[in-house]
Amino acid sequence: MKILEERIRQEGLILSDTVLKVDSFLNHQVDTQLVLQIGEEFGRIFGHQPVTKVLTVEASGIQFAMATGIALGVPFVYAKKKKAVTQSEEVYSAPVHSFTRHEDYQISISQKYLGPDDKVLIVDDFLATGAALVGLADIVNASGAELLGVGCVIEKSFQEGRSLLEERGIAVHSLARISSMSPGEIHFINHHTE
Ligand code: 5GP
Repeated sequence: MKILEERIRQEGLILSDTVLKVDSFLNHQVDTQLVLQIGEEFGRIFGHQPVTKVLTVEASGIQFAMATGIALGVPFVYAKKKKAVTQSEEVYSAPVHSFTRHEDYQISISQKYLGPDDKVLIVDDFLATGAALVGLADIVNASGAELLGVGCVIEKSFQEGRSLLEERGIAVHSLARISSMSPGEIHFINHHTE
């Protein structure tokens, strides 16, 4: 997605060879128009499939799942990272190791909002090691729902996430695929020139 690649070039802060900060337009302050365009793009990519629900993980996936849900005309559900006192019902859960926070946590989704009749599209902000998305895919499997694919806004293709998901037979579509980066330099796969 050309406009997304341009914004990453203009505003992305490359903190190291593996960490990209996009806090000025995606991850902290959020460019709402760009997020809606991202949702429309996922809608174009996955719209021919019978998606019934978009799934993501709180907090950084929520705006993209919402925009995609709007584009597809379906609800979205976000996995929670901490158990709240209001969450008394049965949940599906999976362990995840966080790449950016260097800690393990448990993600969970109420069994009320995911089941065998659902056809699921998973959406998230970054694909890095793939741990978060593998956790979500495990939850989808446990619920008996069908996983139709994964959409990532930014993929760091030099990390193992994509191959981990593809090994499991999951179709992955990313809107910006970074082949390499270092402070001051960033390269995209399939860079769009128009
Ligand atoms: P993964 O499980 O694929 O390693 O990454 C899980 C989450 O870590 C992503 O959804 C994202 O929130 C965060 N993350 C991974 N890599 C980066 C990065 O380079 N920059 C930012 N801002 N977040 C990242």
